[in-house]
Amino acid sequence: MKTIAILGSTGSIGTQTLDVVRNNSDVKVAALAAGRNIRKLEEQIREFHPSLAAVWDEADAAELRSRVTDTGVKVVCGMEGLVEAATVPEADLVFGAIVGMIGIVPTIEAIRQRKDIALANKETLVCAGHIIMPLIREYGVHLYPVDSEHSAIFQCLNGENRDGIEKILLTCSGGPFYGYSKEQLEKVRVEDALKNPNWNMGRKITIDSATLVNKGLEVMEAGWLFGAAADQIQVVIQRQSIVHSAVQFVDGAIIAQMGAPDMRLPIQYALTYPDRHPMETRRLDLFELGQITFAKPDMETFRGLPLAVRAMKKGGSMPTAFNAANEAAVARFLDRKISFTQIYDIIEDCCSIHKTIERPAVQEILDTQKSVEEHIRTVWDRD
Ligand code: NDP
Repeated sequence: MKTIAILGSTGSIGTQTLDVVRNNSDVKVAALAAGRNIRKLEEQIREFHPSLAAVWDEADAAELRSRVTDTGVKVVCGMEGLVEAATVPEADLVFGAIVGMIGIVPTIEAIRQRKDIALANKETLVCAGHIIMPLIREYGVHLYPVDSEHSAIFQCLNGENRDGIEKILLTCSGGPFYGYSKEQLEKVRVEDALKNPNWNMGRKITIDSATLVNKGLEVMEAGWLFGAAADQIQVVIQRQSIVHSAVQFVDGAIIAQMGAPDMRLPIQYALTYPDRHPMETRRLDLFELGQITFAKPDMETFRGLPLAVRAMKKGGSMPTAFNAANEAAVARFLDRKISFTQIYDIIEDCCSIHKTIERPAVQEILDTQKSVEEHIRTVWDRD
């Protein structure tokens, strides 16, 4: 029996994680944490019977508490509540399915309480990889990647010596605007950007996939997870999202992981590793598929990717500046305050003025986020 806590249970990854739990009777839920969707959280509490539920806002917590008094669940709120959910004593594994940098502190606290971590929340590794990875080793816990590409790489490395890695081939669908020119990209609307050809995801990551910033964040994530330098990670467009990523070894062999695009597979693998449990997913029909194609990403039009690689090479607090600028810019794009390509402009501007702090502590990471947001408010929100 495995007992888990899910941070971000009401989101795309969170609900799919609960779907996986539904199909694995040996997984029990001890805590659920969400942002504002208390209606969905109430349904989840009634179905999965956690002992603890966390929401962000105090007023939401009060309302949820009154709705679920009959269940006996303890309802908490704010960062304290999120940390309580991440460190709930019964859980052996914490599933990080929250969106954004808010995931950093609860992930650190969960590791300190010797919980294994299944991590979808890539922003945590991007900004605090230099803190998370040593802590994982110090506390002797496991870190299971949930992002489909990183789960694929993790699967390709099963039984392999990491010194044998020559190159990581990180695949990318190319998003809805693959093949667009700069001019076309400038005119993209929110509705268009929210349509991903292969994956059904939360709003923020859907926009990140369209800008290819998501791929940039994934390059940084892969760097931390697999100890790879930026130059060892090659992004490859794989339009069908069938090859989820591959590893090229020093002898020239390439091992790839393939499957139908379905996040429940990497989610379940993180929960059942090293075992594989049966799953009712669409099977790949290679004859029907016929061919799998590969292409180079257009780094000139989709500037988010080279900007991310530059931030990764700079290191220290620069990935935080990159990520914080992107989070703030995507929110403004979704609010129709800026254009699609201004997301790149904001990231570039914030990174260019940021003074890198080597090995920033958690507080310095959070301060960097604040100062980036302040800069955007002053310079970009003026009109
Ligand atoms: P969603 O936007 O669908 O869900 C985000 C979750 O985080 C929701 O449960 C939301 O709660 C919760 N949340 C937001 N703010 C807070 C807060 N302040 N306190 C507590 N909970 C909060 O995102 P996704 O599921 O798409 O993505 C989650 C993470 O996984 C991201 O880091 C993303 O990059 C990564 N990822 C996602 C993939 C996907 O297929 N979706 C694939 C690979 C990685 P509520 O809705 O109640 O406000």
